[in-house]
Amino acid sequence: MDKHEPEAVRSTSSYVNNGNINDHEGDIIRWFEEVSAKAGAVQTEVLCRILKENFKVEYLKKWLLVGKEDYLFIICKLITDHHPFFFGKKKEKILIFLCGGGGFCSSGTTEGRQKFVPFTRHSAQTTLETFTLSAAYRSRVYPIREGGKILEFIYSGNQFKTKGGLIAGTATTHYYASEEFRIKQERTKSFTCSPYEVISAGDYKQSTYCHLLLGLFFSHDVEFITSAFVYGIVQAFRSFEELWRDLCHDIRHGTLSSRIKVPKMREAVLEIITPNECLASRIEGICEEVEVMDWFGLIPKLWPNAKYVYSIMTGSMQPYLKRLRHYANGLPLVSGDYGSSESWIGVNVDPSSPPESVTFAVVPTFSYFEFIPLYRHKHSCGSSHDGGADDFVEDKPIPLSKVKVGQEYEIALTTFTGLYRCRLGDVVEVGGFHNGTPKLNFICRRKLILTVNIDKNTEKDLQAVVEKASHILQSQTNNNAELVDFTSYADLTTQPGCYVIFWEIKGEAHDHVLQSCSTEMDAAFVDYGYVVSRKTSSIGPLELCILEKGTFKKILDCFVANGATLGQFKTPRCTNNPLLLNILHACTLKIFRSTAYA
Ligand code: AMP
Repeated sequence: MDKHEPEAVRSTSSYVNNGNINDHEGDIIRWFEEVSAKAGAVQTEVLCRILKENFKVEYLKKWLLVGKEDYLFIICKLITDHHPFFFGKKKEKILIFLCGGGGFCSSGTTEGRQKFVPFTRHSAQTTLETFTLSAAYRSRVYPIREGGKILEFIYSGNQFKTKGGLIAGTATTHYYASEEFRIKQERTKSFTCSPYEVISAGDYKQSTYCHLLLGLFFSHDVEFITSAFVYGIVQAFRSFEELWRDLCHDIRHGTLSSRIKVPKMREAVLEIITPNECLASRIEGICEEVEVMDWFGLIPKLWPNAKYVYSIMTGSMQPYLKRLRHYANGLPLVSGDYGSSESWIGVNVDPSSPPESVTFAVVPTFSYFEFIPLYRHKHSCGSSHDGGADDFVEDKPIPLSKVKVGQEYEIALTTFTGLYRCRLGDVVEVGGFHNGTPKLNFICRRKLILTVNIDKNTEKDLQAVVEKASHILQSQTNNNAELVDFTSYADLTTQPGCYVIFWEIKGEAHDHVLQSCSTEMDAAFVDYGYVVSRKTSSIGPLELCILEKGTFKKILDCFVANGATLGQFKTPRCTNNPLLLNILHACTLKIFRSTAYA
């Protein structure tokens, strides 16, 4: 670390202490209180440092030569959207390239081009800082036992080499293999149940089985349950519903199911587990009891010492909260932090806030953050956004110190990993301040997802509509049917075009119930363009397609087969991908056409 580096920007890892967990927590919280109090000044230091480090790169020279030494001026001239990188001599510092979590057809949440961003030592350190900082705030509210275990549903993906010889992989893949992952466990004095061989086995079904097995084996020591995105926890417990008998068998006999084929993983797991008749009987008893209640309260029953469930639960993860709450029966749900492959952004410093209202306090040392003000023009069809029509008109970017409570923004980042400035594509709202740093509500992905003509609906609009109709599904079937997952697309091959929404449901529902769900969704889109187009029949009736059971597992398998990792997987809420559409159409059992606006 540069000894001339400004004090505030210096990494927290430079703090020394005697290894006591409480000292670490105190140190990192004190550090954050300090940098958040002077967040504006810290941001200026961060920008200076990024520019100083990149001073010699070819591209910047051009601007410096013309005598424009104002940093902000220079940075404004550099790039907007995912501009090519300007590495200059910094190239050797790149440890690895990260690709967006969605894998072959995604960056970030849903569709789009795959992105490659550099990952450096600084990136690894900020990951460690994010996790230790949020762990420190969590343990103030929900203290955990030192030396306890974490049941983590985490998965590494494959790494590969780029043409230039650099290693590429997802952010989580790199993190789980890194020194920082080990340091985090030591600093927080909480240890993952599964050895690295399970995390890195490369087959998510086998890894999930082993995570569950080891989580059960250490059930009395588990202090909390986690995954990167909450989808990972829900899919693991859905698998548990099918696997519990085999898991109990393995615990009783100290064996490992023949479904586990990866030799290194088999070896590592068998080294840990020993026969435990008493535990197996306890788990069996619990499973028999909760199976008849559709697994209600499974988590606290199986893990009696778990204090909370911690994972990203906001944005496109919200639809999984209902099932998680069902499994968790009142156990606190703590929303995970906010970041992207490009940079970590904010930390949840109020762990007791419900996931629906959680905010993320921006950590001003991580990157240089700019905020593009967004104004909603509900009734307008035009937009000033280059990336394609959407419902926002945007203003010039402003620095962190100038943001206002209640205003919506898109974040632009200038990171430490190369001189470029990129837009994140998320809509956030400033919900308040933590000292001098904004606390952000995640609103939605900015990208417009459903549009046929003048209509504009985002992921959040779709989520609200689906949620409304899923209440009908549950109430009219006396809770016998439940929405498992959903996606959609705008079908432009028909005249007029229409919205098609795919549902996979668990349980049985009569056709008349599904018919009313389809009509309800059509009527529930409040976007003015949509309502007008439906009234004038320039958009056709919405179609609800009911999928066969297991369709979303097939979709996940398809993503995974194409290089995505489960850890960063997010179900695309809208898709134009022919491969996915083929699966969806092939698995459609029934179609219900809305009668709204008839
Ligand atoms: P990736 O670059 O694949 O890691 O994905 C980053 C994207 O994931 C962000 O731009 C967000 O859209 C989404 N994301 C990350 N953290 C959160 C969060 N806490 N809440 C909601 N969405 C998130």
